[in-house]
Amino acid sequence: MKAVFLPGNKRVEIRAVAVPEPGSGEVLVEVKASCICRSDLSLYYGNAVVGGDAAGKCVTGHEPAGRIARVGTGVNKFKAGDRIAIHLAIGCGVCAHCRAGNYHICHEWKCIGFTADGGNAEYIVVPERNCLAIPDSMSYVAAAISTDAFGTLYSAAKKLQLNHISVMGIWGLGPMGSAGILAAKALGARVVALDPIEARRLFAESLGADLTLDPSAPDAAAKLREFTSGRGLDAAIDCSGNNIAHNMALDALRPFGRMAFVGEAAETTIRPSEQLLRKQLTLFGSWYFNVAEYPEIVEVLTSQNINLERLATHRFKIDEAETAFRMFDERKTEKAVFVF
Ligand SMILES: [Zn+2]
Ligand SMILES: [Zn+2]
Repeated sequence: MKAVFLPGNKRVEIRAVAVPEPGSGEVLVEVKASCICRSDLSLYYGNAVVGGDAAGKCVTGHEPAGRIARVGTGVNKFKAGDRIAIHLAIGCGVCAHCRAGNYHICHEWKCIGFTADGGNAEYIVVPERNCLAIPDSMSYVAAAISTDAFGTLYSAAKKLQLNHISVMGIWGLGPMGSAGILAAKALGARVVALDPIEARRLFAESLGADLTLDPSAPDAAAKLREFTSGRGLDAAIDCSGNNIAHNMALDALRPFGRMAFVGEAAETTIRPSEQLLRKQLTLFGSWYFNVAEYPEIVEVLTSQNINLERLATHRFKIDEAETAFRMFDERKTEKAVFVF
């Protein structure tokens, strides 16, 4: 089968590899859709954000969905033909974090696409417990987007305790930010979406953002304040990983506001006394989602008729992988998806 590898230095290699065999407790999945994510670009450049030096040697792709082709011994709940999305973290299965459904917090975890073979290939093998059942009404492309993109942002938005009187700001309108708009709107909040790229702001408006702003415009902070009638934001999500955005969000939050850090950032500088202590803010990091949250994610998407395919602005065949990663890197796409 064909599989995409990212060995670094912007090289994209399509290699022929053997179709993997499902072991005990594992399933073989025929991949139907697999999304490209901003974190894949760390492999593309050769500086993996997950897995360190161990990363980059596996088949890429941590956001796949597909159809179970065959099951290994000891697989009881899932069967050939089942339509699934896949939880990206392969945990030990028995530690406290795994038993709580947080496979991505397990000390021994492996991440598909980084340190275990991922979904940018015709087939992938994963443990049965990583299978996330999807309804017939959900397309494979939507299912792939429902994991790291929508699932991550839905989980963050829930932790922000949003409701119908909340105003949330979201910085960075790539695929994560766009998914965050949909998640926050699903929870009833009004959303201010910020990005310097005009095309991204227009896309955010089409997704339901109530106000879009260019954060580099001199009057952006004043307009944000005006939108909240001077109160400040109730909540914020940063998807940009950018220091200026971190500070703008912290400055815009009202006392007792909450902020989720979702965009990868190696370091940042903030002003704790003024921004955190005096305002008694709650800041937290949010990363991916608990496996037990997935049925709720599906319920929100189906009950509110949210079609995540809207986020998939570009679809590629696996043979077009080089173009796909280049366009994604150049921010010419929102969600880019390999379809099989
Ligand atoms: Zn991702
Ligand atoms: Zn574990």
